[in-house]
Amino acid sequence: MTDFTFSCDTDGVATIVWDVPNKSMNVLSLEGVAELNGLIDKALSDPAIKGIIITSGKKDFAGGMDLNVIAKMKQSAGADPARGLFDGIMQFHALERKIELAGMDFKTKKGGKPIVAALPGTALGIGLEIPLSCHRIIVADNPKAKIGLPEILVGIFPGAGGTTRLARKLGPMMASPFLLEGKLSDPKAAKAAGIIDEVVPAEQLMTRAKEWVLSATEADLVKPWDQKGYKMPGGAPYHAAGFMTFVGASAMVNGKTQGVYPAAKALLSAVYEGSLVPFDTALKIEARWFTQVLMNPSSAAMIRSLFINKEALEKGANRPKVTDQTVKKLGVLGAGMMGAGIAYVAANAGIDVVLIDASQEAAERGKAYSEGILDKGMKRGKVSADKKNEVLARIQATTDYNALSDCDLLVEAVFEDPKVKADVTVKAEAVLPANAIFATNTSTLPISDLARASRRPDQFIGIHFFSPVDKMMLVEIIRGKETGDVAVAKALDFVRQIRKTPIVVNDARFFYANRCIIPYLNEGMRMVAEGVEPVLVESAARLLGLPVGPLQLVDETSIDLGVKIAKATKAAMGDTYPDTAVDTVLFAMADKGRLGRKVGAGFYAYDEQGQRTGMWDGLEALWPVHEDQPALTEVQHRLLFVQVLEAVRALEDGVLTDIREGDVGAILGWGFCPWSGGPFSWLDIIGAAKAVELCDKLEQTHGARFRAPKLLRDMAAKGEAFYSRFDQSAKVA
Ligand code: NAD
Repeated sequence: MTDFTFSCDTDGVATIVWDVPNKSMNVLSLEGVAELNGLIDKALSDPAIKGIIITSGKKDFAGGMDLNVIAKMKQSAGADPARGLFDGIMQFHALERKIELAGMDFKTKKGGKPIVAALPGTALGIGLEIPLSCHRIIVADNPKAKIGLPEILVGIFPGAGGTTRLARKLGPMMASPFLLEGKLSDPKAAKAAGIIDEVVPAEQLMTRAKEWVLSATEADLVKPWDQKGYKMPGGAPYHAAGFMTFVGASAMVNGKTQGVYPAAKALLSAVYEGSLVPFDTALKIEARWFTQVLMNPSSAAMIRSLFINKEALEKGANRPKVTDQTVKKLGVLGAGMMGAGIAYVAANAGIDVVLIDASQEAAERGKAYSEGILDKGMKRGKVSADKKNEVLARIQATTDYNALSDCDLLVEAVFEDPKVKADVTVKAEAVLPANAIFATNTSTLPISDLARASRRPDQFIGIHFFSPVDKMMLVEIIRGKETGDVAVAKALDFVRQIRKTPIVVNDARFFYANRCIIPYLNEGMRMVAEGVEPVLVESAARLLGLPVGPLQLVDETSIDLGVKIAKATKAAMGDTYPDTAVDTVLFAMADKGRLGRKVGAGFYAYDEQGQRTGMWDGLEALWPVHEDQPALTEVQHRLLFVQVLEAVRALEDGVLTDIREGDVGAILGWGFCPWSGGPFSWLDIIGAAKAVELCDKLEQTHGARFRAPKLLRDMAAKGEAFYSRFDQSAKVA
């Protein structure tokens, strides 16, 4: 079976149809490139053929390059991977340049055959780069279609000519939202931006394409950049206007990426340097920068975690093999911040919800939260009045536990108090159907302990959402000691219904995400106690690509919550409690009433609108800043290693059973450096031996929390990487 088919009609118009077997969306493979190349040669060399239409046999044109191919490109590029990659990329360019020049004599620009891209729908990535090399792009008027180059969002950039062609077609300034931000447009907007040439009713797509092929003149086939006297729209960088564009773009890229994402910088360099030279040289420059991005382990790690493995987890890579457990009716106990959010995401996904609180007023307030989100959506034109009414009609706000009698899943989100939780468990189980699953959204209490209140602990599980529920994409599913497979499948099927990403972990203090994030917050406060400049701590984190510094995160989650967790942890751990130094900071802040952003006072100072105005100037009096400040990298290593070592320990302890979940969970759960692909990917990038060496140094200076776990030492000795030692791709469903 082939990805492309070829036919030619009696008027001499050849049609190449892209239709990858057994896939709902076309994606390009290396075999596909060779096939297309062969068909273009065939059409160009046949004197009976006047022109070519490239189209798709599916409702869309193409989703882009197969990400599995991109992720493995470096691995499969031979002994000299940079050379191998560059040569491979130049083959793409050769194919597209062949389409663009279409057999014409380069000097006279005569003798070419018109080639038109007829796109029935979505055209992304290489699925737009190929059309950009055609002489005309005609798109069916399908408002749902997305046209664009989203590569930058995957950690690479459009490296098959899209960068050079779009920058020359629109000018660097106008091309920048599409290249640097991966902006996608519907066909009409793409036409208005000048990316495509025509939008026609869907049923006329092929007739219009053929009409254009048969009427095209030789002049229609010559791209602006192949014409004499071509000037870059908006000006090349050696003109004043063009110069300003690049100064602004450079500042913007560095500001947005903090310098940790290699792709945006490389893209900008390819555009800048490419605009100084002739088109074919510009393509070579683009290929060099693209090679550099693919050589950087960050791009493959990002693709692996953020796309391939994330999707595998969403498709149920770790789902027990039991029958479908789709949720029909959900009960939510507790209509506070979390319960209200859970009710909203479920109702929004089409699930009927019973939302219970202690008073009718509280239950209604919880339902009103959904109304607020939907109203905001309506203001932005994203939600219709019908949709709003439909979602709200699905939520029944009540105090009556009898309303739970036909719920097949219940999520409890009442106060974080074992007694309150035990009480509602008993009350709910008295009315729930015998096969219903009971889930708790606790963030700190062991599931196996809470399950003691249950009559059916095998149907008891943790489903841990993150706040705010409607925005945070990760859901941590926690198996208690007695949790059965059906309960795990139910939780996974529910997470799939609400279109979030699940990880399944075993029960231990703070599960996985909080277990890693709490040491990060603590390390930040520990450094304040040591006299490290607080701004250095915060900036070091931001320069690692972490979304918020540890002190800001303490302010966001609130100091009093920190105090509560610290006290509970100390009570549970007794003499082995390791964080007394942190508590001096935490308790002093609590004593001063600086409880964080919610009171407009914490490590940061806030204005009346609640905006941060800088670090609180009272910190210096409490913890004088030391004259000798540590190097930036030392602060960064401390902040990184406290998180990643905890992730390794979670794997050693069996809390995590799949490193893919550890990586995806870290990025989605607490924004752990997406450029790294997650903690395990980052350790693979630096190598276990280097990691152990850094840990040894940190342990000597800062103590046992940096001791390299046995697993890491063992891997260093054997020269192993996490993704080779724990290759779980075989488990992909
Ligand atoms: P919250 O205080 O905002 O809401 C709790 C709600 O439960 C309140 O509306 C309260 O009236 C209701 N409630 C208390 N006892 C009840 C009872 N017996 N019957 C019915 N309703 C009762 O708390 P929250 O922040 O939504 O947290 C709820 C749970 O979710 C806790 O277990 C918490 O640890 C967990 N959690 C919180 C977060 C977070 O960021 N806030 C994140 C993950 C998990």
